[in-house]
Amino acid sequence: MPRDFLAGARDQYDVVVIGSGLGGMTAANILGRLGYRVLLLEQHYKLGGLATWFRRPGGNIFDISLHGFPYGMVKSCRRYWNEEIANGIVPLRTIRYDNPMFSLTTRFDRDDFTRLLTTRFGQPPEKVQEFFEFIRKMNFYDDQTMTVKELFDRFFPGREDIIRLLMEPITYANGSTLEDPAVAYGIVFSNFMAKGVYTYRGGTDDLIQRMKEELLKNGVDVRVRCPVERIHIVRRKVAGVTVHGRYLAARAVVSNANLLATILRFAGPEHFDKDFIEEVKAVRLNNSSTQVYIALKQGDLLDESIGDLLFSSTAPYFRTEALLSRNITSRTFSFYYPSLRPHAPPRCYVVSSTNARYEDWANLSEEEYRKSKQELINSTLDALEKYVPDIRQRVAHVEAATPRTFERYTGHLAGASFGTKFEGLRVSRALPHQVEGLFHAGSVGIIMSGWLGAMNYGVIVANEVDNYLACPSLTVRKG
Ligand SMILES: Cc1cc2nc3c(=O)[nH]c(=O)nc-3n(C[C@H](O)[C@H](O)[C@H](O)COP(=O)(O)OP(=O)(O)OC[C@H]3O[C@@H](n4cnc5c(N)ncnc54)[C@H](O)[C@@H]3O)c2cc1C
Repeated sequence: MPRDFLAGARDQYDVVVIGSGLGGMTAANILGRLGYRVLLLEQHYKLGGLATWFRRPGGNIFDISLHGFPYGMVKSCRRYWNEEIANGIVPLRTIRYDNPMFSLTTRFDRDDFTRLLTTRFGQPPEKVQEFFEFIRKMNFYDDQTMTVKELFDRFFPGREDIIRLLMEPITYANGSTLEDPAVAYGIVFSNFMAKGVYTYRGGTDDLIQRMKEELLKNGVDVRVRCPVERIHIVRRKVAGVTVHGRYLAARAVVSNANLLATILRFAGPEHFDKDFIEEVKAVRLNNSSTQVYIALKQGDLLDESIGDLLFSSTAPYFRTEALLSRNITSRTFSFYYPSLRPHAPPRCYVVSSTNARYEDWANLSEEEYRKSKQELINSTLDALEKYVPDIRQRVAHVEAATPRTFERYTGHLAGASFGTKFEGLRVSRALPHQVEGLFHAGSVGIIMSGWLGAMNYGVIVANEVDNYLACPSLTVRKG
């Protein structure tokens, strides 16, 4: 008999959360703490969404999206999770760039960038100060017409090298481009500049295990292998969900799944205003990624001076097109040293990440796909050779992930790594005004993506759900 992944579940909850990414889990945890009856449904066999990991024979363990996040994670984890999780967050010390325009090492914080911009890139200190102040004051409600390119043209006209310094890591971090609103770039970049780049000591497996324990402690009913098939809406009000053919009633539903899938697939366009659906259909998905996971042989320990994060490129200039191209010229290498998992046998890993277009991978035949993955692995090892000599002899395990892999494991349309482009934020925020009790807390609009963005969006939405459940009539439908 097939296993019943909903065994013992109630028929009715205050809140059903669809998806256990950092946004979904954080929303569930806050609402559980507040005493609501919360059900967290995850389609995959483990929690975490893109904040995940996988194991391979020989004791190898790979992190997928643990490359770096801003210091703000400490505060968010302390407040909305617990002290132990917050205490696991540690700084990355060495961020490197290596490209035809410059090679340098930085702490990736405001002090160090001020030093670089004034000494190495020859900018007047007042100009640099003015730039930092300008972006620091940007907020979500600002004018969104200025693009990132216009921002750079205003402060550093004609300086392609400075644009590369300021933009390349953020493009890797959330897929943003020079054509995106400057406000989105400004908020994310300022978050990093506040105190540099951080990681979680213990690895993603440890983090997600601790989060699961905290969810259970707070009374959240956590279920994996539970793909939500339908969100039920009756007269523009959420009623419940169907999962494994079983109807579960809920006063509120928070979807952490892809925004477009939530509206068009799980809820259905017929439950929304026509012009809203037009707006939904115009929302662009963010790009996807490829990754190559490399484990070094046991006992082969890299010198930590190689750095934690290395933005490596052979492209003469920074161009979004070049970053997305199948002809890869730019890669971010994350180096993982034994200190990341102090309790595991000492091992070193390198993960190479590249932004990628779903279309370039989606329609390949199985044979072309396998061949393309192998080419990706080969070209990555070639590029890594410069930093880790004799890499081919030193590898214990290597494999690749593509946009198809990300789509398969998270259900994200087109394997989007960072949800949607900026316009998705407006749609996500408008959801409860279209359908009472329906909320979305997942990667959208650059700002609300990445570990910190997704987690903080979960917090914002949990507060809105709390307000709604306390007084449903306060969420008035617009239009
Ligand atoms: C290769 C890569 C590297 C990255 N590196 C970094 C980094 O270094 N730093 C950083 O800050 N961010 C990074 N990110 C981005 C970051 O991981 C994500 O933005 C963040 O984890 C997304 O969280 P989320 O809450 O939006 O949910 P997601 O992680 O997107 O999870 C959504 C969840 O919903 C589930 N789901 C979907 N449909 C259903 C359904 N019908 N029923 C039940 N469950 C469903 C999925 O299975 C999934 O678990 C990276 C992303 C990628 C792909």
